Order: sequence, then C-alpha cells, then structure tokens
Amino acid sequence: MSANVPLVVRLLASSVSVAGRAGKIVRDVMSKGELGIVEKAKDDYQTEADRSAQKCIIASLSAQFPKVNIIGEEEQCQSSEEEVTDSIVLEADKEILRLDCPASLKSVKEEDIVVWVDPLDGTSEYTQGFLEHVTVLIGISVNEQPVAGVIHQPYYRSLVAGEKILGRTIWGLQEVGVGGFTPAPPPDSLVITTTRSHSNPVVEKALQVMNASQILRVGGAGYKVLQLLEGAASVYVFASAGCKKWDTCAPEAVLRAAGGRLTDILGNCYKYGPEVGHPNATGVLAAATAELHAFALSKIPQELKDKLACK
Ligand code: AMP
Ligand code: MG
Ligand code: MG
Repeated sequence: MSANVPLVVRLLASSVSVAGRAGKIVRDVMSKGELGIVEKAKDDYQTEADRSAQKCIIASLSAQFPKVNIIGEEEQCQSSEEEVTDSIVLEADKEILRLDCPASLKSVKEEDIVVWVDPLDGTSEYTQGFLEHVTVLIGISVNEQPVAGVIHQPYYRSLVAGEKILGRTIWGLQEVGVGGFTPAPPPDSLVITTTRSHSNPVVEKALQVMNASQILRVGGAGYKVLQLLEGAASVYVFASAGCKKWDTCAPEAVLRAAGGRLTDILGNCYKYGPEVGHPNATGVLAAATAELHAFALSKIPQELKDKLACK
C-alpha cells in the first residue's frame, strides 16, 4: 500500500514511528540510571539517551530513505553492526500513510530533502528531572523550507480507555494540518515562554520589553512550541544564539501547519537546506498566530535587534 504513497508522507509516517521508539530509549536510559553525561560545551550536555536515540532514528530513516540527507545534533559515534540492526524501526504510522499529500509536495525526491534530528531536546531538563519538558524532534525540510515535523514527548501521561499511556506524538504537515494533540487558542493575556537554562542579560531585556502578564521558564524548543499549540503560552521569545536548526525545524513545521509562525528575533525565517549553518544565531520568536507574532515583533526594540544581528 505504502509504495503508492508520496515520499514526504512515507517519510513523515516513518518518522512518527521511529520517534516513539526513540522516546522509549530515552525512558529506558533514565530507568537504568546510568546517564553517561558528557559536557560538549559550556551549558551543553549529551547523555547516553541522546546518543542511543539518535543512532536509532538515523539508522532507521537511512535504511528506508538512503538518499535523504539526515543531520543529527550528536556527532555520530561508532556502533557495532549488531547494535545498529537491533535498533532499526521499519514501521510507518498507518494514520499518517492515509493523509492526502499536498500537490506541492507530491513529486519531491529524496535528494530535495534534509531531515533535522534532535534526538533529545531539553537535555539539561532531562538530567535535572524536568521530564515533561523533554521531546524528540524530527523535522523534514524540502528545498530549505520546514514542511513536516514530529514532536514526540516521551513522558506525557494520558489515560486511554482507562489505561495509563506514557508518551505522545504530535505531527504536522504543510497544507494538511496537525495531529496527536488538541489545539487550543492562545491565553487571554500575554504569556511568554522562554528558556530555563540558557538565559543572559539580552534574553532578559527582550522579556522585559514584552510587559507580559506571566513568563514561563521551561526547557526545550519542542516543549515551548507545544505550549503555544495548546494555549498555555502566547509567544516564545529567545533573544540569543544557542538554538540550532535541529531545535527549530520540527517545531517550526508543526507550528506552521497549525497556522503559526516561527522566525528569528528580527522577523526573518530560518532556512533548512543542506549547506546552512547550524546555529540560529539571531534567536527565536514564535507564536501560534501570525497576529501574535507580529505583535511580539513590534515590541522588540531596534537596538536589541541590532545587538543580535551584529554578533
Ligand atoms: P532552551 O530553551 O534553553 O531549553 O533551549 C532550546 C534548545 O536550544 C535546547 O536544545 C538547548 O540545548 C539549545 N540551546 C539554547 N541555548 C543554548 C546555549 N547557550 N548553548 C547550547 N545550547 C543551547
Ligand atoms: Mg535541542
Ligand atoms: Mg538535543
């Protein structure tokens, strides 16, 4: 059946399935209690969960889509063939396979695609026990644009027909929509969501000028965008470098598919092609509606925009 399904839809369906497995890896590493923390740079950590989840995602997607360029956050560490074969997921989510591919994406080839993988977004929070903030991110870009994405939340708890379920998978596809959660409108007053663990004076200045009724400080780009989608926050503001393309590709794709917007602090869109630099040097500004995004952008003083732009 899936042979007739357009490539982008098959890739999204496989990404949904493998994100669930990656989430299980993230939980299993935590249950075992041996996190194997490595400090990659200042305030930038990696654990065994980041490493193993990435291996699983990249091995699984490249086995099925060999010509797709897949860029993961973690440098690929050596793994035995047996280890890689064990973690390969070849399933594809059946609900996604039934989606109607938009005409604009029907003839996309593997060579046109870059997949951005953040195997564990919110590693600081993972190591500190803020587990709800943790997400697995798989973003699909076509000709530099984020067209589809998966945000998997391994520690989300729900009750389905009286049974306790751990983990949920949110997805979005351009011109089709979103799934895996119940969208809700933004709050009545201005609620900002921002970093918990990577603040600095410029980040704080940008929060101050917003004059918000509340500021939520949570981990991960994925979790903050979920807060926008579910009406817990109005705007995501991060006036600093630090986020990378793998942090924003999937969240931006899902947010766009839901009618929202994610740009840098100057209002410019990021591009997700194969040659692009990894850092999102000019920060992140996102909202669930174009109106809220424009409102937030209008509040950022030019001086602050200039400060970020010239770094
Ligand atoms: P945060 O909002 O601080 O949780 O950051 C969202 C994503 O961007 C996470 O994956 C962080 O690791 C990454 N990030 C943000 N700021 C920095 C930074 N200063 N150094 C390293 N990673 C960062
Ligand atoms: Mg991240
Ligand atoms: Mg990460």
